[in-house]
Parts: sequence; structure tokens; C-alpha cells
Amino acid sequence: MTDANLEEAVAPFHCGRVAIVGRPNVGKSTLLNLLVKFKLSAVSPRPQTTRHKVLGILTGPGYQVVFLDTPGVPQRTGHELDRLLGSRAREAMQEADLVVLLVEPRFPGGVERRLVSELRQLDRPVFLAINKIDLVSKPELLPVMEAYARLYPFLDIVPVSALKSDGLDVLLDPLVQRLPEGPPMFSEDEVTDRPERFLTGEIIRGLVFNTYREEVPYCVAVEIDTFREASAEHGGKDHISVVLWVEKESQKGLLIGRGGERLKAVGAQARQEIEALLERPVFLELWVKAYPNWRKDAAFLQRVGY
Ligand code: GDP
Ligand code: MG
Repeated sequence: MTDANLEEAVAPFHCGRVAIVGRPNVGKSTLLNLLVKFKLSAVSPRPQTTRHKVLGILTGPGYQVVFLDTPGVPQRTGHELDRLLGSRAREAMQEADLVVLLVEPRFPGGVERRLVSELRQLDRPVFLAINKIDLVSKPELLPVMEAYARLYPFLDIVPVSALKSDGLDVLLDPLVQRLPEGPPMFSEDEVTDRPERFLTGEIIRGLVFNTYREEVPYCVAVEIDTFREASAEHGGKDHISVVLWVEKESQKGLLIGRGGERLKAVGAQARQEIEALLERPVFLELWVKAYPNWRKDAAFLQRVGY
């Protein structure tokens, strides 16, 4: 046995949960997807596409990182949905062994200060990752790093660009070292503990956000109504029926488009992505229905998986 082998044999295994928190749109999903090299959660240029605590698992030599992706902490609270999003992020921080606060390369704002004061109370080790550094110059970045260093005793402040895969190892290496010692929680080939049904919903949610303009996506709740494997009625294909709930009758047309064009396009793309995920043929139906003020109905939110 060589020295290197020996070291590997005796080095302790590190395993722990990491929560990535930050305001909507800072790039949490992009970062997570890149780190686990698998498209787990919806990514879109609009805020708040992630509405579940997605679990991404990264297993490497001597370590396993279990990422809790969290919905962005919204600026203001009001709606039932906003409240839920905020409390989910808090839950994830409590559950985590270690927290990554993800921010944009600008001075700390209200959301960042709120998160930092919660982290202070929780007493968790926190890394700060400043994302989107491809958008700023070094002289612009340095004062931002200094401002954050004054705000909180972060374990480390790491500039990254999730989009350009820049600086990710610099973030990952020290992070892994700070994880508790212990055996892996999941087997090596698992990337998520979420069922296929959930991932299917995420694909459709992501497509809705990327397809429709302006505020339309925020009025849509995605419900997987039927998920039947190898359905005899559909020639042995999986039968997946999905309801896109909107808030007003008048929004149905926007989703469906003239002659059903837009919905058809979403359906075709969704079917392709779902088949790629499941690795089997799928019969997919999309329905658009109106349910006024669904976001204020706590029972409904729970049913559709919020
Ligand atoms: P989340 O709401 O925090 O999960 O953010 P997303 O991961 O959905 O990303 C929001 C937007 O920021 C998307 O349009 C991403 O492509 C973009 N984005 C993410 N990371 C970077 C980055 O490093 N540089 C730039 N320029 N854009 C990024
Ligand atoms: Mg997200």
C-alpha cells in the first residue's frame, strides 16, 4: 500500500447537510444543479421558481454533501405563499449542518441582513458565496467583500460564477472539510430522494416559468393529478396527467394560446424532458383550470405540494 492509499484508508469520511440560502434569483438552483451535475430544480430568469426543498446529493472521494435547496426568502411577506417560502428557508437552515449564504455582487440589503441575524441565532457555520462575478469587475467586487466581512464572521467568502462554472472547487473544498465526520446517508448513485412525481412537477414548473411572460407564471400552480406507470390504456406508456391551476378564468387563454399552440408547445417539450428523466415513454396530458385565489388556501397549497 502506498502512502497515498494509506491516507485515504484512514482519513475520516465527511457527510452533512448544506442549506443554500439567499434572496430569489441569486442563482441558488443554478449552483445546486451544477454541483450535483444533474438538473434537479427549476431554473429560470424570474424569481421564486423553486418552491420545494430539493435535496441534491454530491458524493465524492471521502465525502457526501446533501444539499437542501431552499426557496428564495422574499422581500416582503403577505400572501400565504410568501409566508411558506420564508419559513421553508428557515427550516432548511435549522436542518443544516452548514449554511451557504448566496448573494449577488452588490452591497448587503435587507434580505441579507435578515438572514444573517437569523444565522447568528442559529449558530451555524456559514460560508458566503458571492455569485455572478462574471457581471462585475474586481474593483467593484472588493468593497462588497469587505462589507460582508464586516457584517458577519463568515468561515470564508468565496466569489463564484455558477453560470460560468467558476470558483466552484474553491467553495466546495473548504466546505467539505467543515462537514461533520460520519458515514454517508445515501448510496453513491443517488442524486435525490425525491420521487419521480416530484421531479416531473419541477420540469413542468420550470417550463411554465420559461415559456410565459411577465406575471403569468406566478399565477400558476402545478398539480400532478395522475401518475400511473405502464398504463394499459395508453399502450404501456406511463400516464401522467397534470393540472395547471390559474387564479382567474381570464388567465386560461394566456396559457393555452391561440388554437392551443402555446400549451401544445409546453406539452411537447415537457414530454421530451420527462421521458429523458424516466427513461421510458410517457403519455402526458396538460389541463388548465381556474381556481380563484388558490394561493390563499392553505389546504390547496399543501395538496399541490407546497
Ligand atoms: P434562484 O432563484 O436563486 O434559484 O436563481 P436561479 O438559479 O433560478 O437563477 C436566476 C437567474 O440568474 C437565471 O437566469 C440564471 O441563469 C442566472 N444566473 C445564475 N448564476 C449566474 C451567474 O453566475 N452569472 C450570471 N450572469 N447569471 C447567473
Ligand atoms: Mg431556485
